[in-house]
Amino acid sequence: MASNDLTHEQAEKKISELKANIKKWSDEYYTYDSPSVEDSVYDQTYRQLVDLEGQFPDLVTADSPTQEVGDQTLPGFTKVPHPIPMLSLGDVFSKQELEDFVDHLSNEENVEFEYNCELKIDGLSISLRYENGILVQGSTRGNGQIGEDITNNIRTIKSIPKKLSRPINIEARGECYMPKQSFVELNERRQLDGDAPFANPRNAAAGSLRQLNPQVTAHRKLSTFMYNVADYDDLRTDTQSGLLEELKSLGFEINPDYKVARNMSEISEYIDKYQQLRDGLPYGIDGIVIKANHLADHRRLGATVKDPHWAIAFKFPPEEAQTVVHEIEWTVGRTGVVTPIAVMDPVVLAGSTVSRASLHNPDYLQEKDIRINDTVKLHKAGDIIPEISTYIKEKRPNQSEPYQIPTKCPSCGSKLVHLDGEVALRCINPQCPAQLTEGLTHFASRDAMNIDGLGPKIIAQLFQRKFLKDVAGLYDLTFQQLITLDKFGEKSANNLLSAIDNSRANSLERLLYGIGIRHVGAKAARLIAQKFKNIDNIMAAKSQDIAQIDTMGMTIADSVVTYFSMPESVELIKKLEVAGVNMEYTGVSEESVQNSGSYFADKRIVLTGKLNDITRAEATEWLENHGAKVSSSVSRNTDLVIAGEDPGSKYDKANSLGVAIWTEQQFRDEMAAEND
Ligand code: NAD
Repeated sequence: MASNDLTHEQAEKKISELKANIKKWSDEYYTYDSPSVEDSVYDQTYRQLVDLEGQFPDLVTADSPTQEVGDQTLPGFTKVPHPIPMLSLGDVFSKQELEDFVDHLSNEENVEFEYNCELKIDGLSISLRYENGILVQGSTRGNGQIGEDITNNIRTIKSIPKKLSRPINIEARGECYMPKQSFVELNERRQLDGDAPFANPRNAAAGSLRQLNPQVTAHRKLSTFMYNVADYDDLRTDTQSGLLEELKSLGFEINPDYKVARNMSEISEYIDKYQQLRDGLPYGIDGIVIKANHLADHRRLGATVKDPHWAIAFKFPPEEAQTVVHEIEWTVGRTGVVTPIAVMDPVVLAGSTVSRASLHNPDYLQEKDIRINDTVKLHKAGDIIPEISTYIKEKRPNQSEPYQIPTKCPSCGSKLVHLDGEVALRCINPQCPAQLTEGLTHFASRDAMNIDGLGPKIIAQLFQRKFLKDVAGLYDLTFQQLITLDKFGEKSANNLLSAIDNSRANSLERLLYGIGIRHVGAKAARLIAQKFKNIDNIMAAKSQDIAQIDTMGMTIADSVVTYFSMPESVELIKKLEVAGVNMEYTGVSEESVQNSGSYFADKRIVLTGKLNDITRAEATEWLENHGAKVSSSVSRNTDLVIAGEDPGSKYDKANSLGVAIWTEQQFRDEMAAEND
């Protein structure tokens, strides 16, 4: 029955059903950062509620989700009242609906309107209060009236100025987001650690910002774009676009891709342009926000309890594709986490061909009830990671059976277990060949011991033939053994032996990263090695000593200490030492980085495109050793972009922001001059 045929009684029942669903989903999404349905499902349900309440206005209650902003505050955070409420945005899903809104605004006063078009950043709103130009408080939106005090967490975000360029009082508002690259890396790490991945960058940003321990936030690489003010004692502009520029001149990061439009066709062009560019942006956007450009119109038009009348969000339709699941493959990672992967008919989705999608963990797989031969809908989580939204009921074969979660490791056959509180399934056999293979692949990888020619296939053979038992066994391999491997001739055997031999001399940070200590990435390994100089000092270090290193949190510090407290770890280091592996830091010292006098010292540098004469890892290492900070995305704060071949969107962005761009050759020349 169509909703307009409902009786009052039926409508009441339906409204209460819709409200219950929306409340449940909002709680999962806002409070626990862990949604169980797609945004589009939420949006459709919300729309249905708005429509029904429109038809039966007497059924609108003050606690309806249409009457309040959804987020709630978490226990553990001090509450912050927002005297000027932090609102949400009304939304439209088609250009026709948007045109109605645009017409409505311009008809209001019968004048030609100016609109400011902005990207709708997929993050969460924050409010930052400054007194005399000094940051005094940061808060979340909460329910719009009361948010959470996150000042200490906010202070760890680099793009947020602690001091403004003018000593004014201001409350600035904007979006805190997690760049796509950081989101991918965070989820990879969570997967390795057996934690549930975040569904999208917005939930990841919210989960990272609402942490009781600011050290955790500090490691999550959050960033911000500010776009609004709630209170300002010295406003020098009367437009939204001018306000953005003013925020920028005060020291805030703003999104540079805004545009003033005069009519629907200019707005439409903007939408089309960014719908095209969306995949290449380094951060997620889920639509476009269209705002009246004149601030006088903001005041005149006002707001509902939930949304301003002077702005609207145009939400992008979700990009979706359908395909068939042939198999569910279980892969064993180096930490023993066993992950189900759906193997599907290849299909093109948002610009790339997709044939595999992670099903994360058994709970997730069972909740989604994905089965072999199901036709499924695919989308890209946070615009990047292919993910199955749901199976299509009508296309499920009659004889289909629920998928049985394996109880044994696909590699070694050991019983799989759930460790305390983990959603992940793990193989805990330390001799599991798949884990050993993954561990050794990591050990040999470019950022670790950099052993050229030692890929996963060769490593698997080495374990199968029992030439190896652990990582240290690598250094005892002989020519006679290697020559027996598939497709191995004398030359490849000799090359591999010499690559293994060369790795003995690596500086300590490579080994420290290669042994795969939980939470210790290549950068943390370098900083630890640089500070402690040799393995004995690191093994003797206390958590507090390690945590003293700038940017290093207790999580990493504790993890290092725990690792070296295990007899197996001490044993492994001993074996490697006996095998002649260097245990000293031989890179550039902290002092000489500080005093290097390098052109690159303290500069923020981004590498993009293909470099020909040097690998990205080598360039990064060299730059960091010369005091530069190498980051993955271009912003106003970037000092220099080094562009190789086919540089892509980072190059365009640097150009549009006026950031200096060097070719690979210019970089190599400066390197050579400094190396002399
Ligand atoms: P919203 O995200 O749809 O839009 C409002 C927000 O956009 C603002 O509060 C602000 O934080 C943000 N924004 C980004 N760029 C902006 C810019 N340039 N100018 C102004 N604002 C900008 O609204 P919401 O109330 O935060 O969340 C509702 C949405 O969240 C739903 O439409 C749905 O997509 C999603 N949601 C999903 C679930 C689920 O279970 N999947 C549950 C609840 C909410």
